[in-house]
Amino acid sequence: SAGRLTNHVAIVTGASSGIGLAVAQAMAREGASVVVNHRSHDEPAEELVEGIIKAGGRAIAVQADVSREEDVIRMFAETVSAFGRVDVLISNAGVQKDAAIGDMTLEDWKTVIDVNLTGQFLCAREAVRSFRAQPRKDAPSRSAGNIIAMSSVHEIIPWAGHVNYASSKGGVRMLTQSLAQEVAAEGIRVNAIAPGAIRTPINQEAWETEEALTNLLRLIPYGRIGEPEDVARAVVWLASDEADYVTGTTLFVDGGMSLYPEFRDNG
Ligand code: NAD
Repeated sequence: SAGRLTNHVAIVTGASSGIGLAVAQAMAREGASVVVNHRSHDEPAEELVEGIIKAGGRAIAVQADVSREEDVIRMFAETVSAFGRVDVLISNAGVQKDAAIGDMTLEDWKTVIDVNLTGQFLCAREAVRSFRAQPRKDAPSRSAGNIIAMSSVHEIIPWAGHVNYASSKGGVRMLTQSLAQEVAAEGIRVNAIAPGAIRTPINQEAWETEEALTNLLRLIPYGRIGEPEDVARAVVWLASDEADYVTGTTLFVDGGMSLYPEFRDNG
């Protein structure tokens, strides 16, 4: 097929729901062979893989907890044994454990940092090791490897009651930029995507009632909540050669949420 990601092998972490699921589907539609990573959701992951294969694509499911070093190493090994190489990492797995500062346990803090930041480090390190260990691929890919970190608007917007989550995403921003600087000369691109409010299970309480949605929309100049496919289209573009000169940047996919919307009514 003549998709934008033909001959690419892509790992999508946390792909059994929400944004990761839409990303895996979109990558497969563009011709990528997709590794559907999940921590413990065998059923939806296998269902997604079946759907991709039925539609003519290539995919496997791989269980791994991205915060565990041995799991991440095994995930890359399974990818290479199934598809021969790895070209794109979409580091999407993430969690929230919200609490006011006085009530936030050390475990709440560590869980979020371990998955959202250390997980990104572990996956990015194994991706770079894989990119270096394999021959550079033929057309259509120009880069020697491509890493896309799922960040958040909270890599720049402070978020009371969520200091663990905001700190993890602030860390993802600097991990992305520093790593991009480190590996650019090898032809490896590293970027992040910062979604605003996307309709997924992670933030269900923010959109499931009409009142919650009305409050949420005050923060979104574009006037609608985002859908996982809005993010997936941006990921496909960043992963493709269309974005060949783009590295070390965060692409905000947020309907303007990061534009200080409170100031609209303060002219
Ligand atoms: P989601 O809860 O549907 O998806 C997160 C996925 O990560 C789940 O499938 C979960 O099982 C998986 N996961 C969690 N811990 C894991 C681990 N240790 N190892 C492997 N997988 C693990 O929510 P989502 O909204 O699709 O979130 C995806 C990413 O997007 C997250 O990084 C999140 O922070 C980010 N994000 C989401 C929004 C939004 O509004 N939904 C906004 C900004 C950023």
